Amino acid sequence: MTLRDVQGQPRAVHVLQASLAHGTVHHAWLLTGPSGVGKELAALGMAQALVCPVAPLAGCGKCPACARVSRFHHPDVLWVMSEEEAVRRKLAARSDFDHVPSREIRVDQVRRLQERLALRPLEAPRKVVLLLPAEAMNPQAQNAFLKTLEEPPPETVLLLVSAAPDRLLPTLRSRCVRVAFGPLPHAFVRDEVQRRLEVTPDVAEAVASLADGSLERALALDAERLADRRGRIERFEGVTGADLRTVLRFADEAGSSREEAEATLALLTVWVRDVAVTRAGGESLFHPELRPLAERVAAGIDDDALHRRFRLLDDALVAIRQRNASPRLQLERMLLEMEG
Ligand SMILES: [Zn+2]
Repeated sequence: MTLRDVQGQPRAVHVLQASLAHGTVHHAWLLTGPSGVGKELAALGMAQALVCPVAPLAGCGKCPACARVSRFHHPDVLWVMSEEEAVRRKLAARSDFDHVPSREIRVDQVRRLQERLALRPLEAPRKVVLLLPAEAMNPQAQNAFLKTLEEPPPETVLLLVSAAPDRLLPTLRSRCVRVAFGPLPHAFVRDEVQRRLEVTPDVAEAVASLADGSLERALALDAERLADRRGRIERFEGVTGADLRTVLRFADEAGSSREEAEATLALLTVWVRDVAVTRAGGESLFHPELRPLAERVAAGIDDDALHRRFRLLDDALVAIRQRNASPRLQLERMLLEMEG
């Protein structure tokens, strides 16, 4: 894959390609936009273009250098991410740390980066740094990083990827060229969902409308991501405000990590849609195998309660994604409010 292959973002990709074609690549870029719309793929493509010996300033996507970039293995492409992010990407194991993996990019990581940037590139004509996501830098780390932006080391390109650029210092933002990535076109998400998840067109349509232009969010609805979808939906429907243990048990199970919580909330959103479709007498269910349960739930719920369920699911998802809230506590609160 190369920068050319980033789909659904022609304007953003064009800005990056134009600077490469011009041969004068700015030293710092801020790639912003909602999660799951291609910012990171574009950063990866940009990194390949900057180190590829076969197609300099374009990237061939096939040579060993390009391949090593996408495997996080190129010696001149430096990734900076939090410990938690490294664990999530399986670049580190939880057992590598004697503490809970941090969600922040800390100042010592920035200092280590600066030491490496003081050295010459090993293979490529330049070094490339990817910060994923940049807003994970805590305030001290951002202050330290500001120095690198103010006095950039020679032959270095910094790529800051961020879904929440407001959490970056204004002085830091102002030194980067900002490239905005918008939500992906609905039709693109729908077609990708249909192709990759092998679902029927109307289900793909429904999933795409839930995904708000984020392919990542759409694909999180993938069957494979939850080992036991059916069991989880059944346990969700078994939660009752009258028995606090059912609330705590479900929140513990589904809130074990942010990814698990997000996947569960996506699953439940599709499930509540199935209940709403059933209640309206519709036929096309994402989980046709759970039709009897959907019918039972639909019979005992009114439209207001359905809307409340949708809203609470969405609130919990937003809180977990954007405000770094504890997934377990958010799930508990959501379940209690649903039952209340
Ligand atoms: Zn290449």
